[in-house]
Amino acid sequence: MEPGLAGRRALVTGAGKGIGRSTVRALHKAGAQVVAVSRTRADLDSLALECPGVEPVCVDLGDWEATERALGDVGPVDLLVNNAAVALLQPFLDVTKEAFDTSFDVNLRAVIQVSQIVARGLIARGAPGAIVNVSSQASQRALACHSVYCSTKGALDMLTKVMALELGPHKIRVNAVNPTVVRTPMGKANWSDPQKAKAMLDRIPLGRFAAEFEPIRRC
Ligand code: NAP
Repeated sequence: MEPGLAGRRALVTGAGKGIGRSTVRALHKAGAQVVAVSRTRADLDSLALECPGVEPVCVDLGDWEATERALGDVGPVDLLVNNAAVALLQPFLDVTKEAFDTSFDVNLRAVIQVSQIVARGLIARGAPGAIVNVSSQASQRALACHSVYCSTKGALDMLTKVMALELGPHKIRVNAVNPTVVRTPMGKANWSDPQKAKAMLDRIPLGRFAAEFEPIRRC
């Protein structure tokens, strides 16, 4: 059990699949109590079997009122991982209002809402905490058909900086992580075309995409 995580309560959004699910596994293994928030009930049921004691919360984070009902009384949370996101890829000229609204509601607005709930709780308890926003290399790089997704992640990077500025004085650390392509359901859906993947892989020194769970390799 990691001494830093034992006895801490963590909340992970987008916990049903991919990076979020691996994060729950790692936190659970490290001795943290984990609130696992996701949209598909079956994913949460299998996660609860895999990681006994995990607290599943099934909600669509794109729905502000439903999120308030589901998480408003979540109780003390020390660590928050804002991981849930959608990647709705469209050529710029075909971007729809629906894809824009859904993407910003889930990828950005929900980060604000869930972080407010957690940060207000920490400040009321006078407790220190940490928030990690899962952004993307797409926040910094222009990728074809990613205008909305890239924009949500660019906005998330700046949101992270302002959150760090305002929450730091309350001893709440806020950081973003910006992964490259990871072979999750999202990564496979968007990067399985070998021709499209090649251009990205050519820029990655290891010549391969990341896996959901990377064992630590020492030199
Ligand atoms: P994923 O495989 O698509 O998994 C995303 C998880 O989030 C799913 O469990 C999904 O639930 C949940 N989710 C999505 N929308 C939700 C909503 N409205 N309410 C509640 N839960 C919701 O994605 P991933 O690849 O693990 O990505 C995780 C994070 O890493 C995202 O922020 C993504 O932008 C970022 N990222 C991914 C990559 C990559 O290549 N995979 C690269 C850079 C950054 P449902 O399946 O039930 O909808």
